[in-house]
Amino acid sequence: MNLTVLGSGTSVPHPNRSSSAYWLETAGGSLLLDCSAAAPLRMAQYKLDWPDLDAIWISHFHLDHCGGLAPFLAGTKHAAVTKQRNKPLRIFGPKGISDLIERFNNSNKYGLLDQPFPVEIVEVEELEKFEILPGIEAVACKTPHTDESHAIHLRDKGDKTLVYSADTGFDEKIGAFANGVDLFILECSFIRDKPVQKHLELAEALFLIRKAHPTRALLTHFYPEWDDVDFTKEIAKFDPICEVIEATDGLLLEI
Ligand SMILES: [Zn+2]
Ligand SMILES: [Zn+2]
Repeated sequence: MNLTVLGSGTSVPHPNRSSSAYWLETAGGSLLLDCSAAAPLRMAQYKLDWPDLDAIWISHFHLDHCGGLAPFLAGTKHAAVTKQRNKPLRIFGPKGISDLIERFNNSNKYGLLDQPFPVEIVEVEELEKFEILPGIEAVACKTPHTDESHAIHLRDKGDKTLVYSADTGFDEKIGAFANGVDLFILECSFIRDKPVQKHLELAEALFLIRKAHPTRALLTHFYPEWDDVDFTKEIAKFDPICEVIEATDGLLLEI
């Protein structure tokens, strides 16, 4: 699997970090993990094959994770390059994702689901295995962030694994959920003294990494306060048990 970070920031406008989206290339097709408003731009900018995108996972309904969904569907509806497409686009998310898309759609009769190709919307249940792409097994786990927020665990046929926490407050079960994965993509919104419970600060993220024991960890979802610190030095203070990578927009990782 190959991961391209499309957005390592938050909803706060930032010159280098756009909001959450990650492109995953797998043997079973391509998957977009969250779809922020910047995702369509980034996919084109990084020359990713967006007209052929197979599936989208929406972790929760904050706009920095799903605000690009309606604009992307408007794009695929009208773009010349998707006119000949026949294969379906599948959109997976927590309970309520169908209603959210319908509300976007009905807000101005956009006809977002009247595409040249079929669009299938799938609402997933916590801890119930599903196939998100052919040969790619997925499981979602609730996170303490919003009522509907979920982390997702992916496993390909070669047994490579990945967990994407999306936004989460602290809960040890997220560490257990990511046990032994090849890549643990974990939010780390704040450095310390976090102002809200529904996100993580560095010490908590490193605790979860220690618990999960992944091959590598990728920290992301950085608020602008991270601009003022030396990432490597901050991480070194915690003597991490594995490589801990700073997400940046455009970063490519092989899993
Ligand atoms: Zn967020
Ligand atoms: Zn959020």
